[in-house]
Amino acid sequence: MAAIPFNRPAMLHQLSEVPKWDVVVIGGGSTGLGTALDAASRGYRTLLLEQSDFAKGTSSRSTKLVHGGVRYLAQGKIRLVFEALRERGLLLRNAPHLVTVQPFVIPCYSWWQLLFYGLGLTFYDLLSGRYSLGRTSWLNKKGVLRRIPTIQSNGLRGGIMYYDGQFDDARLALSIAQTCAKQGGTLLNYVKVIGLIKQADGKVTGVKAQDVESGQVYTLQAKAVVNATGVYVDEILQLDEPAQKPLVLPSQGVHVVLHSSFLQSDTALMIPETPDGRVLFAIPWQGHVMVGTTDTPLQTLSLEPVALEAELNFILQTAGKYLHKKPTQHDVLSVFAGFRPLAAPTHETGATKEISRSHKLLTAPSGLVTVTGGKWTTYRQMAEDTVNAVVKIVDLPARPCVTHTLPLHGYTTNRYANGLEGYGSDAATLETLAQTDPALTEKLHEDFDCTVAQVVWAVRFEMARTVEDVLARRLRVLFLDAEAAMAMAPRVASVMAAELGYDKVWQERQVTGFLALARQYLSVNIAREQSLAGI
Ligand SMILES: Cc1cc2nc3c(=O)[nH]c(=O)nc-3n(C[C@H](O)[C@H](O)[C@H](O)COP(=O)(O)OP(=O)(O)OC[C@H]3O[C@@H](n4cnc5c(N)ncnc54)[C@H](O)[C@@H]3O)c2cc1C
Repeated sequence: MAAIPFNRPAMLHQLSEVPKWDVVVIGGGSTGLGTALDAASRGYRTLLLEQSDFAKGTSSRSTKLVHGGVRYLAQGKIRLVFEALRERGLLLRNAPHLVTVQPFVIPCYSWWQLLFYGLGLTFYDLLSGRYSLGRTSWLNKKGVLRRIPTIQSNGLRGGIMYYDGQFDDARLALSIAQTCAKQGGTLLNYVKVIGLIKQADGKVTGVKAQDVESGQVYTLQAKAVVNATGVYVDEILQLDEPAQKPLVLPSQGVHVVLHSSFLQSDTALMIPETPDGRVLFAIPWQGHVMVGTTDTPLQTLSLEPVALEAELNFILQTAGKYLHKKPTQHDVLSVFAGFRPLAAPTHETGATKEISRSHKLLTAPSGLVTVTGGKWTTYRQMAEDTVNAVVKIVDLPARPCVTHTLPLHGYTTNRYANGLEGYGSDAATLETLAQTDPALTEKLHEDFDCTVAQVVWAVRFEMARTVEDVLARRLRVLFLDAEAAMAMAPRVASVMAAELGYDKVWQERQVTGFLALARQYLSVNIAREQSLAGI
């Protein structure tokens, strides 16, 4: 199928051009985007609808690790780890511009820990087989301090060094979306599914969707509809069957971002078991250190979850136990939260048939296919399983999955510098664009390399529609340093307005809205507001 230009007007045009889609995917996180890419690359006429921006949900709020899950190994879930390690290898091969090899050190304060983690991580590496990213090794105390000079050295016996993958989650989501468009898929952000279309026998034959920007409602016919809405799958399931029991138990994870001086290293720190039994990472990310995460069951969902002060304090206090320099709330440059779509315990209802791995895949009697759970690392396998399930139930010619070896948009093995790494092969074209006008090379903030050219690029070629899209997910500054992002907002709004043909009122609304959002990423505000509210 012919590639669709990756811009919103071209994509919207497709809605009136295509009378019936083979597959409509609801949700533009890793799961939905992966599914749309899988379907489009098998040659099916595919449409993906995202109610907000691509990766607005959990898929931009992860720990940014492409990993097998050391924690799952300790739980004896060997098959799960094996599958994730294979997917880690495939992702590194297909998107080397966005996934890098990250060394980790587990500091050990007893000989028993050294033995236990050393053997466990050696097994972890052996499980990865030909996808190994590097040998696990034992370090003595000196070796650990050489790798992480800021580690608490009292009682330190040594450590274990092992390797996993690290990535930029929101930019990988974008790259999958762009690859899908190249394969002939149509993808739209800011289009929300508001209903399912059913025929007399109860079979789902399409969706009703609303363009959030214009308000226009579309009735879209489809052979198959896939519900890949993360923690929101139950809302779509209830549109299909109001009596449907909840499939997801949401749990919130929080990360804080600190100045790089807290770690002073390119090696990440991994604490497999904090005093209260959680895993804690301190990972170098884009010139900063990201520390997390928590695991708090919550009932109320929000597209913009807010960290609880208790979570924030837990991370800071626990990190302070392992680092010389103790982080406080005033050191936090950004704090962000995300919901884990944990699959609820299985209950065979008869209404749905389950084909479960770490993720849940359900086919309802109406034909609605729902996929949730799993993790970013395994998005490709989840997508393959989902499209296989779709092909079984609708009238589509069976075709093999091709994503094992499909390079993702921007694929290159060259590493670009100056903050353009995440653009991969697009970096050269972006640099050429910047050279056309000296104003485009203007930096947006003295502490960041981002330029005006990247904002123009985000609008023209990455479907960015709002200031938040640019600062949160195209440039990642909101996640790295909320105050810097707030300072950039007015300039970003004016560049975007010029590109999109919007007026001053739009700019002001965008800036006001963004500043209100960004305040939620400032830890000091979280502490003050929650203590005022008595939370
Ligand atoms: C704190 C935390 C850390 C994690 N760290 C890692 C990690 O390091 N490595 C890893 O592999 N995994 C990690 N994960 C897991 C991973 O991030 C998730 O499994 C994955 O991102 C889920 O993607 P998703 O597409 O299912 O959900 P989401 O990313 O939430 O996407 C669902 C999308 O559906 C959209 N949607 C909802 N309703 C509608 C509608 N009616 N119409 C249109 N669109 C709709 C939403 O707007 C949303 O964008 C982490 C998870 C959390 C919470």
